[in-house]
Amino acid sequence: SVPLALLISLSISGLMVYRRSHRGIYLADLDVAFQRKEIYPVFQPIVDASSNQPLGYEVMARWDHPVMGAISPNSFIPLMERFGRLDTLLTELVKQCQGQVPTGCYLSLNLSGEQLTQSFRDPIQFVQSLLSKLQIDANQLMIEITEREALDYENPKLIATLNRLREMGVTLAFDDFGTGHNGIGCLKAFAPDYIKIDKSYVHTLNGDAVQKPVLEAIIQLAKSMNIGIIAEGVETEGQRQFLLSRGVKRQQGYLLGRPGNLQTANAAEDR
Ligand code: C2E
Ligand code: CA
Ligand code: CA
Ligand code: CA
Repeated sequence: SVPLALLISLSISGLMVYRRSHRGIYLADLDVAFQRKEIYPVFQPIVDASSNQPLGYEVMARWDHPVMGAISPNSFIPLMERFGRLDTLLTELVKQCQGQVPTGCYLSLNLSGEQLTQSFRDPIQFVQSLLSKLQIDANQLMIEITEREALDYENPKLIATLNRLREMGVTLAFDDFGTGHNGIGCLKAFAPDYIKIDKSYVHTLNGDAVQKPVLEAIIQLAKSMNIGIIAEGVETEGQRQFLLSRGVKRQQGYLLGRPGNLQTANAAEDR
């Protein structure tokens, strides 16, 4: 059947990605992909859910491979991270964002804590060069700090970098809050401007009675620490309303707008 064939081809291409990456061919593929513009940004709005006004746009990387088709960021971002290509990615995405940021809106970029401590020799200068390429002010840039491994919030270099970014006027958000390692400890070590509540918590509003108190606790925690909240993965009107009832106005998700190009990024009804 078609689904079975699809499954098989998907797992074969998954294996290929894995094997190729271990033979070192994948790195060349990555560089070719950048040259051929197979890697490009899409934009997902962050919306004031009480008025449906877009506040900003998060940049998400996409890779359309000529043979393998669309490759998920969940598989190529870790590879780029391993091969030290995340800064190339960011530079390329930003190049393709030039002159596109809608007035009055901010742009939100995903950066890993590791990038900020290890990959960039001078993270502040790097961010400054991004701003000048984008021709936006620091206060129109949000950085979402994502982390796959434990984020080392005791690392004085990371804390210093975050503080300097904030002094520049850049808005800082901790991504995927509540998953993995980014917990209460890192909020205490460095209070970001925002946390982004991971979609897995938002989706518990579909009926997971056990997890819902955790979502409520995260909201309470952020409020008590005076940290702003952005909810990710809002897919249903029920989720939107519940979050609004808890004062979480800044929302993002398929209900409010799918990742797309900037002209249609906020037209959720188009899809
Ligand atoms: P993330 O930063 O947590 O981004 C949210 C992910 O959820 C995105 O997946 C987005 O397309 C998806 N999403 C948005 N709204 C909804 C919704 O309502 N329902 C559901 N089910 N999903 C929704 P995507 O684009 O596949 O990206 C996956 C992850 O890859 C991102 O998670 C982020 O950690 C990473 N990533 C994507 N682009 C970049 C990038 O340019 N740089 C870096 N460093 N990481 C990136
Ligand atoms: Ca993000
Ligand atoms: Ca993430
Ligand atoms: Ca997430």
